Amino acid sequence: MINAPKGTKDILPKDSYKWQFIERTARETAAVYNADEIRTPTFEHTEVFQRGVGETTDIVNKEMYTFLDKGGRSITLKPEGTAGVARAFVENGMQSTALPVKMYYITQCFRYERPQAGRLREFHQFGVEFIGSFEPSTDAEVILLAKSFLDKLGIKDISLRINSIGCKKCRAGYQTALKNYLSEKRDGLCELCKERLGKNPMRVLDCKNKECASIMAGAPLITDYICDECRSHLEKTTKLLESAGVKFVIDPKIVRGLDYYTRTVFEFVSENIGAQGTVLGGGRYDGLISQFGGTEVPGIGFAAGLERLLLVMENTGVVIPEKRSVKIYFAPMGEKESERAFALAQTLRGLKIACDTDHMKRGIKSQFKYADKIGAEYVGVIGSDEYERGTVKIKNMADGSEREVGDEDIIKFLNGEI
Ligand code: ATP
Ligand code: MG
Repeated sequence: MINAPKGTKDILPKDSYKWQFIERTARETAAVYNADEIRTPTFEHTEVFQRGVGETTDIVNKEMYTFLDKGGRSITLKPEGTAGVARAFVENGMQSTALPVKMYYITQCFRYERPQAGRLREFHQFGVEFIGSFEPSTDAEVILLAKSFLDKLGIKDISLRINSIGCKKCRAGYQTALKNYLSEKRDGLCELCKERLGKNPMRVLDCKNKECASIMAGAPLITDYICDECRSHLEKTTKLLESAGVKFVIDPKIVRGLDYYTRTVFEFVSENIGAQGTVLGGGRYDGLISQFGGTEVPGIGFAAGLERLLLVMENTGVVIPEKRSVKIYFAPMGEKESERAFALAQTLRGLKIACDTDHMKRGIKSQFKYADKIGAEYVGVIGSDEYERGTVKIKNMADGSEREVGDEDIIKFLNGEI
């Protein structure tokens, strides 16, 4: 037997309705916010992620699936969605279209991480990118879209945490202060954070190591360093959220993983799935588009991990509606009856009615069992008598009632017209 690679998972037919529910909810939510779908390639030139995610991030440093293709090009499977969208935005000249451009995607992502609950090597993200506006109303709208998505999924007990990580101007001051503070305590940091200290000290805030976290507890806070413009931008954003009735906490410890985030960063965190509690994270990236040769075009977005959303839903007892899709299963009791059943099924499918019939030469009892298993609403028995009369004996699987119906009247019966 060959197993699926470590960190990957099959989504089986019995479970796919859950995924479809989340994806449908994502599309419907994006649509009411006037966002259109964008699909970018599964792999990009490695440089896209080096530029678009940033050289100092864990993703680029440790987690990418990178390989040389047969032409000797360095290719990387997408570890996240934003960089590809930014590349596509510039390549397709979208900065000269009507702004903001509101987009969403649902995509596979690949990261070489240690697999555990809510952490896989291939996973799925629903993401949103609104590109073209500096206005706090865009920040608020993106956060409200995220909140509305989570609400529609039935996810409760989730907290929204927001922060501003400042802009190019004011962040430098904070980074210096943080670096000074951390340099004094360097010996207590984990090996990785010692490295981070030199390259991008704000990454230490993200470290899950206990000792690093306790050192960070006494560190200077970005909130005390951001400039007036950044502060006012955050205040306007949170005011809009307040007036929309959304609860949040300002959390100066949130910095997020990308290098090009500016100002607003936010996370929705669940208490119900253990260590991997962040189900959705996002932020503003005013410096990203220009990394791809575009002009300075601001943007803001988020991404949610579908596996983690599902985990939260399962752990909090959210019941995902399972659609019973087979309207009628035809149960023939012989050779010629099977031919009739096959033809009836074909006719009904032509009229968009989902149906099925026997392919295993089963006896009538096990056909009923099978019909029950596939969730058929009705079973249409065709025995020799029904065959002679040109009828089907239709049993309602929910209440057990039976009725013999002429072949030509099956549709009317299923539509409740007779
Ligand atoms: P974490 O702190 O958990 O590593 P992250 O900061 O790396 O998350 P992002 O890059 O912001 O995560 O990705 C957005 C969302 O994608 C996360 O909030 C999470 O729901 C999901 N996600 C990230 N990495 C994985 C993974 N390896 N497996 C499953 N879902 C993931
Ligand atoms: Mg990560």
